[in-house]
Amino acid sequence: MDLIDPFGRTIRDLRISITDRCNFRCTYCMPEEGMKWLTRPEVLTYEEIERVTSVFVNRFGVRSVRLTGGEPTVRAHLPVLVEKLARIGLDDFSITTNGSTFKSVASDLFAAGLQRANISLDTLKRDRFEQMTRRDDLDNVLAGIDAAISAGFSPVKVNAVIQRGVNDDEIVDLATFGRERGVEMRFIEFMPLDAEGNWDSSQVLSQDEIVSAIQKVYPLEQMPARGAAPADRWRYLDGGGVVGVIPTVTKPFCGDCDRVRLTADGQFRTCLFATEEFDLMSMLRNDATDDQIADAIIAAVATKWAGHRIGQVNFIRPKRTMSQIGG
Ligand code: SAM
Ligand code: SF4
Repeated sequence: MDLIDPFGRTIRDLRISITDRCNFRCTYCMPEEGMKWLTRPEVLTYEEIERVTSVFVNRFGVRSVRLTGGEPTVRAHLPVLVEKLARIGLDDFSITTNGSTFKSVASDLFAAGLQRANISLDTLKRDRFEQMTRRDDLDNVLAGIDAAISAGFSPVKVNAVIQRGVNDDEIVDLATFGRERGVEMRFIEFMPLDAEGNWDSSQVLSQDEIVSAIQKVYPLEQMPARGAAPADRWRYLDGGGVVGVIPTVTKPFCGDCDRVRLTADGQFRTCLFATEEFDLMSMLRNDATDDQIADAIIAAVATKWAGHRIGQVNFIRPKRTMSQIGG
């Protein structure tokens, strides 16, 4: 059966955070120190992730899975998980990664059945990279992007979170990078999910501002409506490829959202900004049957709200940060 929420949206995409840990400390996501990590027993095992995924695939026809985190590649033996999930039968199997170790893992992950990779890169300047991620790893990320392309991931997309006064002067340089490397750059509006709670709407560079900055240098044509995909996309008129913007804050795409999320500690969330979670971990560890897990998922999806309320007076910041939910 299809998994349909109260607003008629069919759930087709499952985002699985496999760890809350990360080898970076991006300022818009994590504090430099003081994160309280989940302990090993608190994190879903690969077998438990496989079990939940198989319920989504076999009961609800969900065939699109993205692995995320924290940083998914810090989890040991990741190809083992990839192989388990690929075997269940997915049409679209992807990862979001900071790319820093992709040079060494890309080919194993691709061989295990992962198909697409989104790699985060917010700046091409080494000093700024170090300020933004608190790590001196620009060269490793660039090598990771190359490794993803050579391993066969297709498409490779590169995500950049743009913050006013931080890296908004690099929009065109990043767009140029995407054109030259043959990857799709995707600019993301800064969201109120930073661990330090410093988000302010004045720091958000809007989709309109991002597109107009690119348009001044590279003429663009908007592509047909995005459907359930989060990015609006534009084609370079000179044939230089495609660029996307994820306008979560200024042009929410909640009306077409087909996503649900599983956190590393087995909590099921029906929205990135949800304030309610459903405890699948306890069910898995207390011998729940697949029927019971499927019923819990149906009941949770029945609470999926119409959309987030960023910018409205009744917006409540989720207790978890982006790295704890899985972006
Ligand atoms: N560690 C991986 C990475 O950075 O790609 C995967 C997890 S990360 C939480 C997923 C995505 O969320 C990344 O593209 C990251 O840039 C983005 N992100 C993190 N905090 C954000 C924020 N406050 N606003 C917008 N995007 C954010
Ligand atoms: Fe780590 Fe990704 Fe968050 Fe950066 S955005 S701190 S790489 S989880």
